[in-house]
Amino acid sequence: MFTSFSLAELENAEHLERLREEVRAFLRAELEAGAYTREPSGWDRYDAGFSRKVAAKGWIGMTWPKQYGGHEKSSLERYVVTEELLAAGAPVRAHWLADRQFGPLLLSCGSEDQKRTYLPRIAAGECYVCVGMSEPDSGSDLASIKTKATKVDGGWRVTGRKVWTSYAHKAHLMNLFARTAPFDEKNRHEGVTQFIVDLDWPGITISPIYNLAGDHDFNEVVFDDVFIPDDRVIGEVGNGWKQVSGELAHERAGSERWLNAYGVLVHLLDSAGADLDRADAEKIGRLVTHLWTLHRMSFSLAGLLNQGITPAVEAALVKDLGNQFDQDIPEAARQVMQEEDRAKLPDEDRFNEMLDRALLYAPSYPIRGGTREILRGIIARGLGLR
Ligand SMILES: Cc1cc2nc3c(=O)[nH]c(=O)nc-3n(C[C@H](O)[C@H](O)[C@H](O)COP(=O)(O)OP(=O)(O)OC[C@H]3O[C@@H](n4cnc5c(N)ncnc54)[C@H](O)[C@@H]3O)c2cc1C
Repeated sequence: MFTSFSLAELENAEHLERLREEVRAFLRAELEAGAYTREPSGWDRYDAGFSRKVAAKGWIGMTWPKQYGGHEKSSLERYVVTEELLAAGAPVRAHWLADRQFGPLLLSCGSEDQKRTYLPRIAAGECYVCVGMSEPDSGSDLASIKTKATKVDGGWRVTGRKVWTSYAHKAHLMNLFARTAPFDEKNRHEGVTQFIVDLDWPGITISPIYNLAGDHDFNEVVFDDVFIPDDRVIGEVGNGWKQVSGELAHERAGSERWLNAYGVLVHLLDSAGADLDRADAEKIGRLVTHLWTLHRMSFSLAGLLNQGITPAVEAALVKDLGNQFDQDIPEAARQVMQEEDRAKLPDEDRFNEMLDRALLYAPSYPIRGGTREILRGIIARGLGLR
């Protein structure tokens, strides 16, 4: 049973501070050169050119072995880099999933050939990956997926439909979840397999789904009798559920779960001025203390990952608290900066633009990567409450 929140010893070493300064200097130079515009949430913004520059700095695949194009750095060093990229609102989406999830998945379950083929390309910022888990009737209940892979000579034939697939239209590969054995109500988590799919293979159709802000970031991806060769199975056939459980801790522990509206907070501090009344000052002060606490928790989880520990329950807790924080920022900003204050801001102040975007994106924060109800179920089970 889970009886306490495990936090790794925090190491605030000098080399981490030096690295932080190096990343900040890079980002300042890029911003000044007009390479990107600061957004409330940079990990929704896709820019392959920018990702290649990040790769050239050695900041993709940082913890992976050198033989696969990695840099053999610690999870804490990776944490510092990703936190700075996100805090700056830099456009990191192109490489994000490949770096955060797909690479670690291949390192733990992929074949030697898969590691040699994909990891160096990912670390060089040349190969981008999307995740094909959700389906029209299977999001939270991933075990109910219906996309079916049938064994044929030399591989598998896949038919089914994936939805909400972020950046499938720009990715090279999909990490596909498909059912390779008939659904069995008593063993719901068995018989799911992960595959590496090239998105330009015949039989795959990718269509846009526009989000609330009118942006095209997610898609519907239809598989119509698509052939997948045997060497594209990740890990063991039928073991996909267990494999993905470890992957989800990487997905939920990071600062991307509470730095989605950080740009709005910074602009709020700049735009609201020094003459805040006590109630507004308290609102902002509370946000800053939550920010600091989330930073410490996430950094600690990076420390656990560094020790080879998978903090699944703790990651669920950070994601749930972080999602709330991401929604609290735009709400507080709206209360502090009333319509009339916002109308008076100079044209060059991007507060209004940032806040409008954050408000439109905020509903999605507690859905993607696992809904709040599901995370609380995981936490409750960890605490022995269910
Ligand atoms: C911006 C964004 C990007 C996304 N990107 C991707 C992607 O790249 N790849 C991908 O595969 N998916 C992606 N998703 C999908 C996302 O992971 C799913 O939407 C999410 O897992 C929820 O599934 P659902 O939409 O089917 O909702 P449902 O599972 O139908 O849930 C609806 C509601 O019911 C609640 N609920 C469901 N089951 C239970 C239960 N057992 N107990 C208590 N409450 C329950 C849920 O918490 C939720 O509030 C993305 C979603 C968003 C919003």
